[in-house]
Amino acid sequence: MKINVAQLRRLGGGTEKYHFNEGLSPLQLGEDEFAFQSPVDVELGVINAGKSLLVKGRISCEIGAACSKCLKDFPYKMSFEFEDKFIPVEFAPEEEDDGAFIFERDECSIDERIQEHILLHLPMRFVCSDLCLGLCPKCGADLNFNPCGCADVDVDPRLEILSKWNKGV
Ligand SMILES: [Zn+2]
Ligand SMILES: [Zn+2]
Repeated sequence: MKINVAQLRRLGGGTEKYHFNEGLSPLQLGEDEFAFQSPVDVELGVINAGKSLLVKGRISCEIGAACSKCLKDFPYKMSFEFEDKFIPVEFAPEEEDDGAFIFERDECSIDERIQEHILLHLPMRFVCSDLCLGLCPKCGADLNFNPCGCADVDVDPRLEILSKWNKGV
């Protein structure tokens, strides 16, 4: 994903829109790697604000993740809005500003910047569905597909007497 801001900068004002739908290399987070399951969709509006470019956009993507409850791989979909500030290197502040993306030429690749934004939006843990039942802590069965019955075996003995009584055993 490359944006060319030459014209925008020459005009000294105005807004330019960009739309990308491209593959990105996998995200690295510590020892974990997350591959994109489909092209990443990025919509950007870039506003020339004089010494910087203000960027407003939306990123939509699908990441291969593993559910922390049932361990199943599933595509984790995310779509979020973000704002950013791109500063040409000649106007870059002396002190490093993590909140801004410094670019050197009028044409710049924004792949890494987009990846950074996605990393910031990853959840602490992935869950395949709000309704995911997870794995049985006793036998490891996936309770979404295979109710193993371990939980039933664990009935309080006093309640068991009661249930036998109810069934008339
Ligand atoms: Zn799950
Ligand atoms: Zn079980």
